[in-house]
Amino acid sequence: MRNAILHGKKISKVYANGQGKNTVLNEIDVNIYKEDFTIIMGTSGSGKSTLLYTLSGMDLPTSGDVEYKGKNLCSISEKEMARLRAREFGFVFQQSHLVSNLTLLENVLVAGYVSHTEKKSEIRKRAETMLQDMGIWEAKDRLPSETSGGEMQRAAIARAVISSPDLIWCDEPTGALNKSNTEDILNLLSDINKKGQSILMVTHDLRAAIRGNRILYLEDGKIIDELILTPYREAEEKQRERRISKWLSELQW
Ligand code: ADP
Ligand code: MG
Repeated sequence: MRNAILHGKKISKVYANGQGKNTVLNEIDVNIYKEDFTIIMGTSGSGKSTLLYTLSGMDLPTSGDVEYKGKNLCSISEKEMARLRAREFGFVFQQSHLVSNLTLLENVLVAGYVSHTEKKSEIRKRAETMLQDMGIWEAKDRLPSETSGGEMQRAAIARAVISSPDLIWCDEPTGALNKSNTEDILNLLSDINKKGQSILMVTHDLRAAIRGNRILYLEDGKIIDELILTPYREAEEKQRERRISKWLSELQW
């Protein structure tokens, strides 16, 4: 039996659309499993981001519930939600959304301090090690505007994982990067997942999707299919790419 850490139950999201309504998510039931690298795919506008926002508590569904560690994210207090976001969830988006008047290191530190999980000195030590491991030590004292997109996105990942969250939510994290930065960022995410942190990533990039061990396909407001794979291994990249590509073409992606 696999261990689910998050349950989406009959999740619907409906937007008003002129006189009518646009049902983006239609009573979706989905579990997210511990230590998985879950991918969400689907055509543009199919509701991938909306699903990520509603499952992660960033936005409320129109109806349905999200259960995480016995709590309903749709009804917990703002305070509890803020605590959860600071400690148990990490977020990475297409744009890094770093605070513009803080250096890369300061951006990571602030996220660590807000989580109140460790002593400040411990957090600083870990942040520094992380930035070294990620290859952005040289850029640590620069403002985001003085760094490249790849450097900013590395810092955004460090910020997302500094408080050792259980679950990292990524919405097209490589969508604005060139090929080499994309591979670097994906390697970082794979390493994080290998160390036991669960990841849920929305992507439309096959190169990114091969990192997952479970791919959900969203269409017409439903998860219409899923593909289960073994955990990512670099040696199997070509086979994974072929397998996913074949699956996607059957889904007419
Ligand atoms: P994807 O991430 O798969 O490209 P989104 O989740 O961003 O798709 O959007 C799915 C649908 O929901 C689109 O038709 C979009 O126009 C609509 N949508 C998203 N956000 C809003 C909003 N805040 N108000 C109204 N419609 C929205
Ligand atoms: Mg999107």
